[in-house]
Amino acid sequence: MTSTIEVVVKIVGNSKRVVVFTGAGISAESGIPTFRDPLNGIWARHDPRKLETASAFREDAALVWGWYLWRRAQVAQSLPNAAHLAIAQLAKTGRVVTVVTQNIDDLHERAGSVDVIHLHGSLEQPKCFACHRAPTSLYLETKIVCEGVRVEPPRCPRCNGKLRPGVVWFGETLPASAWKRAVLAAKNCDVLLSIGTSGEVFPAAEIPIIALKAGASVVHVNPIGVSLSSSHELYLAGRAAECVPNLVSLIEIADKTAH
Ligand code: NAD
Repeated sequence: MTSTIEVVVKIVGNSKRVVVFTGAGISAESGIPTFRDPLNGIWARHDPRKLETASAFREDAALVWGWYLWRRAQVAQSLPNAAHLAIAQLAKTGRVVTVVTQNIDDLHERAGSVDVIHLHGSLEQPKCFACHRAPTSLYLETKIVCEGVRVEPPRCPRCNGKLRPGVVWFGETLPASAWKRAVLAAKNCDVLLSIGTSGEVFPAAEIPIIALKAGASVVHVNPIGVSLSSSHELYLAGRAAECVPNLVSLIEIADKTAH
């Protein structure tokens, strides 16, 4: 009997265009907590989902800016893990690999992935809360920010409004060009690997559905069971940093055998 991993190796092996759709779970093994992880310390008293809104920023900009500086410091201290590295490696096998990530960290880029679409923005690019423009150059604190510290946001060099993180908050629309490129990649891929995402945050969670409807196979990698709605969906149970490198090395072996 053929195992799921063998089927997945065959599908990816035969593919030319791959979309890798990632969520917070892929960065968990780099030490960056997912949304559903219980947070310790002061943030345990602040639901992140309540800090990630424009109204939270209006109410207490220093608390929200401090929260993002803390998250940015966490990312700066982290390294890409074996899953990020394996995805960059997959792009060296001759397939067109597009990474569509919901993450606001830069671990895919630091692992060597080149074509990375950030659906929810980035911790690295603040913008003005008032005029919405992004400053062309801005020095951002890199020193370790203590958990729970309030930090007044810097001011916009153009209009003196408060700068806010350049990430998509709850209730906000996704950056139009990132969304358009992600939909196009999903419609044109042969296979989509959905790694470390709960699939609960929309519209991002539509990306695997769009790929499936366009005829692609969708492979979920998650330690927690995923419900499958189509015969073109497969599920690899396990941690990303274990499953993804294993999958990519099996694909490389299959490629060599095929040539
Ligand atoms: P989520 O927290 O809703 O779900 C995380 C998923 O990852 C869960 O299904 C969980 O079972 C799975 N997971 C946990 N550990 C894993 C591992 N080692 N390997 C594989 N899977 C693992 O996150 P989401 O689906 O990305 O959506 C929520 C939002 O969280 C996104 O909008 C994103 O912007 C934001 N977020 C981003 C980061 C980051 O940038 N690293 C961190 C936290 C939250």
